[in-house]
Amino acid sequence: MLETENYWAPRTCLKLPIPEYETAAEMLSEAADAILTEDFDLAGELVRRADMDVLFKHSHTIQWKLDPHILRKRLMKEPVAKLAKVSSRMPCTELIQSIFARDGWRCRFCGCRVVLAESRKIMSKALPGAIPWNMKKIDYSHGAFFAMSASLDHVVPHSAGGTNEEDNLVTACHPCQFGRGAFLLEEVGLIDPRTRPPVRDGWDGLGRLLRKVRAPVANQESVGPASPKRAGLSMAEWCASLDAMYPASSGRLIQLLDGCADLNVSRQVGEVLLIVRLKIGEVGLGILGVRSNGLVEIPWHIAGQKDAFKCFAEAIADAIPEASVYETPKHWVVSKADKQLLNILDFLEAADTLRPALKLLRSALLADRKG
Ligand SMILES: [Zn+2]
Repeated sequence: MLETENYWAPRTCLKLPIPEYETAAEMLSEAADAILTEDFDLAGELVRRADMDVLFKHSHTIQWKLDPHILRKRLMKEPVAKLAKVSSRMPCTELIQSIFARDGWRCRFCGCRVVLAESRKIMSKALPGAIPWNMKKIDYSHGAFFAMSASLDHVVPHSAGGTNEEDNLVTACHPCQFGRGAFLLEEVGLIDPRTRPPVRDGWDGLGRLLRKVRAPVANQESVGPASPKRAGLSMAEWCASLDAMYPASSGRLIQLLDGCADLNVSRQVGEVLLIVRLKIGEVGLGILGVRSNGLVEIPWHIAGQKDAFKCFAEAIADAIPEASVYETPKHWVVSKADKQLLNILDFLEAADTLRPALKLLRSALLADRKG
């Protein structure tokens, strides 16, 4: 993308993050909690959802500089004096961890949340095959873990004489770190990230997995005690958050769900997500999840009921302009073009269809039980 007017203006990062970073971070956080409570099905499902193509493409473009406008390298009027390299490339682990903590486990350039490599490895062992990983090659890696991989960046690059002193080190995501490479900030027009204070908001880089999960997870033995569940939003807070993004949408959704209560449809709000559940006999499905930022995921968690769910997904998609259904190994997923998530306004287009679609789903589930 060519931003003609401010092309050479100083910037905070090589390319601004897209909203999917935050959505994926929430999913990975919920997945980490699910691992800690040994709900590996749910954890696997969340990790799969966080593996968004759009995130991989975005971060891949930065890291491997696939877009010629990423670097914007400028000719310096005066050659920049580069000092001799200091001897050691990387500081000790304790210092790296203290820098990550100081920076709130967020990239100091683009501001995205980062995930520790050690936590990714624990999740990978707990969920075999769920996290494709090829960091050193231009090859597919898990979209969210690739985009949000934690890294330590030398503000003055090591190759230009940058030291391992704390004030020369900042947390970065892999794309910001490897995208800039060994260039000085001024060579690529980046504002010094140290001029902005770090943002600390409780994100932990999923480091809680390191503290809580004992080593034998890989052998499918028990994991450590469950982490205390972080306080979630109240229903009123969730509605306020949704309405701030999409005015009056929470009332319309609640009214719609209340109208389906006789079909055993219930709702439950968690950290940022409202899950709409449908219960038929012993079968309980999370038919959709609505995030407080308005993104809607259909389905949410329907372990094992993929075939029965297809008719529901198709009916909802038919009622929403430009929506369609695509298949994954475990689901039929309702989405917009390019597999983008629906938002609450898209979903409300299907308001009149929800009840008949739920009835279709009930019939399909009952037929499955009989079959
Ligand atoms: Zn970054």
